[in-house]
Amino acid sequence: MTHGFLKKIFGSRNQRLIKQYQKTVAIINSLEMRIEKMTDEQLRAKTDEFRQRVATGELLNKLLPEAFAVCREASRRVLKMRHFDVQLIGGMALHYGKIAEMRTGEGKTLVATLAAYLNALSGCGVHVVTVNDYLARRDAEWMRQLYNFLGLSVGINLLQMGHSQKREAYTSDITYGTNNEFGFDYLRDNMVYEVNERVQRTLNFAIVDEVDSILIDEARTPLIISGQAEDHTNLYIRINSLPPFLERQIGEEKADGSGIEKPGDYTLDEKTRSVFLTESGHEKAERLLAEWDLINDGESLYASQNITLMHHVYAALRAHTLFFRDQHYVMQNHEVVIVDEFTGRLMPGRRWSDGLHQAIEAKEHVKIQAENQTLASITFQNYFRMYTKLSGMTGTADTEAYEFHEIYGLETIIIPTNQPSRRTDHQDQIYKISQERYDAVIRDIRDCYKRGQPVLVGTTSIENSELLARLLKQIKLPHEVLNAKQHAREAAIVAEAGRPRHITIATNMAGRGTDIVLGGNPDKQASLIESNTSISDAEKRRRIGKIYDEWRMLHEQVKTAGGLHIIGTERHESRRIDNQLRGRAGRQSDPGSSRFYLSLEDPLLRIFAGDRVRAIMNCLKIPEGEAIESRIVTRSIESAQRKVEARNFDIRKQLLEYDDVANEQRQVIYQQRNELLEAKEVRETITAMRHSVLTHLVRVYVPSGSIEEQWDIRALEEALRNEWLPDPILQEIASKIDAMEADEVLEAVIAASDEVYITKVMQVGREAFSNFERSVILYTLDSHWREHLAALEHLRQGIHLRGYAQKNPKQEYKLEAFELFAEMLNAVKHEITHTVMNVKIRTVEQLGVSAEQYKGGGRVGHVANQDANLESRVLLAAHMDNISPDSLSDSSTSESAIATRYSSYPKVGRNDRCSCGSGKKYKQCHGSIS
Ligand code: ADP
Ligand code: MG
Repeated sequence: MTHGFLKKIFGSRNQRLIKQYQKTVAIINSLEMRIEKMTDEQLRAKTDEFRQRVATGELLNKLLPEAFAVCREASRRVLKMRHFDVQLIGGMALHYGKIAEMRTGEGKTLVATLAAYLNALSGCGVHVVTVNDYLARRDAEWMRQLYNFLGLSVGINLLQMGHSQKREAYTSDITYGTNNEFGFDYLRDNMVYEVNERVQRTLNFAIVDEVDSILIDEARTPLIISGQAEDHTNLYIRINSLPPFLERQIGEEKADGSGIEKPGDYTLDEKTRSVFLTESGHEKAERLLAEWDLINDGESLYASQNITLMHHVYAALRAHTLFFRDQHYVMQNHEVVIVDEFTGRLMPGRRWSDGLHQAIEAKEHVKIQAENQTLASITFQNYFRMYTKLSGMTGTADTEAYEFHEIYGLETIIIPTNQPSRRTDHQDQIYKISQERYDAVIRDIRDCYKRGQPVLVGTTSIENSELLARLLKQIKLPHEVLNAKQHAREAAIVAEAGRPRHITIATNMAGRGTDIVLGGNPDKQASLIESNTSISDAEKRRRIGKIYDEWRMLHEQVKTAGGLHIIGTERHESRRIDNQLRGRAGRQSDPGSSRFYLSLEDPLLRIFAGDRVRAIMNCLKIPEGEAIESRIVTRSIESAQRKVEARNFDIRKQLLEYDDVANEQRQVIYQQRNELLEAKEVRETITAMRHSVLTHLVRVYVPSGSIEEQWDIRALEEALRNEWLPDPILQEIASKIDAMEADEVLEAVIAASDEVYITKVMQVGREAFSNFERSVILYTLDSHWREHLAALEHLRQGIHLRGYAQKNPKQEYKLEAFELFAEMLNAVKHEITHTVMNVKIRTVEQLGVSAEQYKGGGRVGHVANQDANLESRVLLAAHMDNISPDSLSDSSTSESAIATRYSSYPKVGRNDRCSCGSGKKYKQCHGSIS
């Protein structure tokens, strides 16, 4: 009841909008007389005039009638197509950020030019989004003539393009491309290390063709850029035997050499869960590793080629000294399962990061699992919601209007057809048994064939397509089978699907976007002759004329036979998909017909409507092999579809709520990342981070407002010495501490850290250091973000178990995700501060890196190289100012932190399959360097 009522309201709103737009159409039409008289030059000059007016503040809405009129006239001249009035209405719907539902064949490709032209005048870019590369290229090439005539540039964004080509595509006024490629570019742009490595501009206005496919069917498909972590299994196993040789040191060495109660190889800080090798520990480790042939004799563990090794040493050390079985983890089915520290709950599926989990696996002698890490990901839903203005067009939006509105805030407008439709949609025929249905389908196909009528048979799966093809082969009927794999080839076949007696079997998506012209499409043949240089113009005219004469004959023949006939072999879960299939017939007032054949064995009927339909069939005493065909039945199937649609919508909405959490966090991270990327100086950020980290640290031991008796100065000193401040400075603070208040201690520490920091900056030079800092920030942010993504995923997978504890999993997820995020931001701050405070500045020579290696990492353009590049950037920072070796401090502080952290970066093998699903090798796909 409610539905019909709402429908009425929406229906009337639809009419009101159309009426309103029609008024504008009248204005546009009234401009035509004047614009028609303009010369080509005058017409083109209008674009500059419009641009000028937009630049000086005129609103696009106000400009619309004139701009549409100019676009229409230009199209008439160069494309020989004058936008129909309903196409102008469609163009307005797009411009006003709505979804234009226009039937197949109504010319949506041309409709898009109106809104694209108008919105491109602002110079902020317009993206026209198609479902595959073939369509992107076809539409761009086709409409290019029009845009270029009007003085606008058009770009195509394709998978295999390099950086500069993409850049060019994006700087064009209008960019055509697929949803995949736009989304991937967005992700990649948020992984670069230099501003000029980005390719996209702002996401201003998108026109999404076949919008239901993209925003509903594919909405939830996340785009993922992932990298496989290198397989270090053997290394983990080797290094696992190192820790037993090392002994713990008790007490910390003071500047005067006192303080060590028992010398050893590593120090342990249980509070912060950290472990550090002492001098003697280092020596011992180096000796042993050399014995095991993991490093060369006399080589330092600090050398850059040993960074990974160092990382493993620390992971193993932590595994052995800080993580204990049945306390921090348990063994279950030969797997290391983490125990939640606070609740004691087991957390199956969760893994510690940074190689720790693997090190523990090595310690426990179980299989070491390789990890595949998500580097970045986004769903289409969330990508497209970022555009300032979004619009879409499709032949089938109405059934999903509610969802478009609810999720995207997009209103759907049903645009009337240019000419009344003459398609007959027959009632469904329902058989008891599936085989009977196929018999009927074949009968129908044969009838069409005999009549000379072309027929397009739609199936819901490749399997069914092949089944039908076999049946047709048995009775020797020629046919084509398409299954949405080779877009270009299939488009060519579908274009001919309107020829007399043609039988085409296609899965849903096959050949979409291609117009089926009755009698076949003569344009292609004609253009072949047109471009043939070996024949005279007169001959060309003669041959082309002949082609069109023949076509007209075939066209009439097919029309008399009833036009294109559509056969559906099953109903889809969603009415929309069925409508898409139907919509391929009866374009632009062509005759045409459609019929669906179903059986009670089809999943949809079995699950949702079977009982009812079966009851009706029994009641009407329908014998075996015969079909029931009635309005009631068709309606009850439709209502079953509605039920499924509603359920699917609910699922999508649920998932979306989970997605929203990650999405919000991603936006925060990406926004900050971009600000940092663009900033000239990141010093303020770095300083603020350091102050915050140190404040936090000092307050642990010297709480704000506390008195001296409550302080733990010894522990504070230890904490600071381990990670932050060199000894002499600490001594100085310590000597004055008796006279200080709690807050003064904090101030002194911060002031001391400022000093250490400034000394480092001076050593390298401000600009170089700033570049280094930026790299550190970006790198640290990225690596933590990646780990966070994994953590969120694990959280999501495990959260439904919480249901048992009477908790709302979604709520729980949100809370925990938020906590994880806060933790991550803290960790980022901590690590960045640590890295910057501990960086050792040494020349390339000192680090023993060859000039080749050093130069190797000039560009941080893609995922696979980032690790190596950051390293060279650290070197670069020292090198750029040509610092003499004397001016460099020597290596007494711990640089292991940098070493370990920088080495955990996963590498996508150049020869691995690309994660985008293209099936190509990474190096030839998303990992290709332009
Ligand atoms: P849709 O995407 O809506 O299914 P297309 O954009 O593929 O439709 O166009 C279908 C056909 O209609 C094309 O062959 C195109 O040339 C033709 N067409 C569209 N608009 C016009 C027009 N205004 N005048 C003449 N032909 C048109
Ligand atoms: Mg189209």
